[in-house]
Amino acid sequence: MSSNWISRADRLDKLPPYVFARLDELKARAREQGLDLIDLGMGNPDGLPPQPVIDAAIAALADPQNHGYPPFEGTASFRCAITDWYKRCYNVELDPDSEALPLIGSKEGLGHLALAYVNPGDTVLVPSPSYPAHFRGPLIAGGNIYDIILSEEQEWLIDFSSIPEEVAQNAKILYFNYPNNPTTATAPREFFEEAVEFAQKYQIMLVHDLCYAELAFDGYQPTSLLEIPGAKEIGIEFHTLSKTYNMAGWRVGFVVGNSDIIQGLRTLKTNLDYGIFSTIQKAAETALQLPDQYVKDVQDRYRTRRDFLIKGLSELGWNIKPSQATMYLWIPTPKGIGSTEFALDVLQNTGVVVTPGNAFGKAGEGYVRISLIADCDRLAEVLTRFKQAGIKY
Ligand SMILES: *Cc1c(COP(=O)(O)O)cnc(C)c1O
Repeated sequence: MSSNWISRADRLDKLPPYVFARLDELKARAREQGLDLIDLGMGNPDGLPPQPVIDAAIAALADPQNHGYPPFEGTASFRCAITDWYKRCYNVELDPDSEALPLIGSKEGLGHLALAYVNPGDTVLVPSPSYPAHFRGPLIAGGNIYDIILSEEQEWLIDFSSIPEEVAQNAKILYFNYPNNPTTATAPREFFEEAVEFAQKYQIMLVHDLCYAELAFDGYQPTSLLEIPGAKEIGIEFHTLSKTYNMAGWRVGFVVGNSDIIQGLRTLKTNLDYGIFSTIQKAAETALQLPDQYVKDVQDRYRTRRDFLIKGLSELGWNIKPSQATMYLWIPTPKGIGSTEFALDVLQNTGVVVTPGNAFGKAGEGYVRISLIADCDRLAEVLTRFKQAGIKY
């Protein structure tokens, strides 16, 4: 539909194109050509949610009380399950009424947070590369993004001393995410302490995205921002049910932390949405209460796939250090070939979808992200096709 009298709002025109949407078009074209696609592009877990979660949802569906508008602030029992989970996993005490808010997926909350807190012209610090919602929300709100450039040499960690004094003085929010999508980097506890110190010094809101809290391997336990003394005075943390529990399509996540910050987001949301279907909140609550064995099995699954693909890619010239967390591999493109060109090459010649690193910001150029969202026999097929097509590092 093109019409020269109905113009879009400037805030839409300012957004860079959403790479996943463009990849979708290319995938559709490849499918039309009869290619058997292996889609390792999005972070969309394969497989069913745990059976107790499905059972809880079915049972909740039969209750007429679950079919009306849910409470704006989320159901009390889901909020309690969230704060119990923080207590159990991190020994962090939170008030379920004021310090926890269910979300229609964490992407929704990450985006709306910017609308609740960013005025046009405000400076928002966002690493590059990063998860797109971390910069798209602030852009929609009219904020100025200051890219904190990450690099492999610095193990994809933010170097706080690289942020100019004047920028830090003006900044209002810092978004960050470890274990990291797309780079798979993890951050030591001292890094979180540094982040809190930086935020306190410059009075910056810290927004940490902990969506890979449970997808960690080899005994590594990710840190919650809220474990750090003082963090709750300036920070909030987002989490999602999408990844660990294969519930990406259910759209459920949550935010915890500073009650004033959360109140601002709640106020905005009260004006925009009605929250999450109560049945889904019941299912999410059940997921957070599953025995540890469930999470262990999920970890084993992703670790096995990680090791399998790293080994196979090593035969094609890639030397990849296994990451201790997330559900991705982040690999450099062959010398002289850019991210987009390589991803298109791979798609056209092998039918395998990987995500060009520049989809996550300019500092992702020179890399692609591969999601570990297929079983090893399918990953073996990926490797076979790479070999046949001469794809190598
Ligand atoms: C997958 C992912 C999310 C999850 O988003 P939902 O909207 O909860 O499905 C959030 N942040 C990051 C960094 C992710 O990779």
